[in-house]
Amino acid sequence: MAESLRLEIVTPYGPVLQEEVDEVVAPGSEGEFGVLPGHVPFVTTLKIGILTYKKAGTARYVFVNSGYAEVKDDRILILADSAERAEDIDVERAKAAMKRAEERLKRQDSIDFARAQAALQRAVTRLEVVEKARRKAS
Ligand code: ATP
Repeated sequence: MAESLRLEIVTPYGPVLQEEVDEVVAPGSEGEFGVLPGHVPFVTTLKIGILTYKKAGTARYVFVNSGYAEVKDDRILILADSAERAEDIDVERAKAAMKRAEERLKRQDSIDFARAQAALQRAVTRLEVVEKARRKAS
């Protein structure tokens, strides 16, 4: 059995991460799931959330916007609509997106309610990723 996992995160905007890691916890649609080396193969859908991976005892955080995960042969492939590592998240952009979404949601007649809710969730989750990474670093 391999002692590490290969984590690959790909989005339509390009590759986000390719790394040998020890452990991954990802936001599955039905709840978080953890993957260690030697995991049985499976495929699942992802929701907007935080992917955590550990490498040499250090945890790192990645924002993941929906998509799929495939686990096979000690490789976990994440195909997400968008994804950013904590250090690549633009906080001001996420705050602006959050404000825009909140304003849209205040207008009760919004026909794009679900869309605004998803935009809000993306923005809030990005800010959570940054916060988690900051808390860990301090
Ligand atoms: P925005 O309204 O700011 O575009 P969004 O949630 O609609 O946010 P996405 O559709 O998820 O954006 O992503 C579009 C592209 O922009 C992707 O490449 C994504 O990685 C990038 N992106 C979006 N928001 C941020 C952010 N706050 N920091 C860094 N990259 C971001």
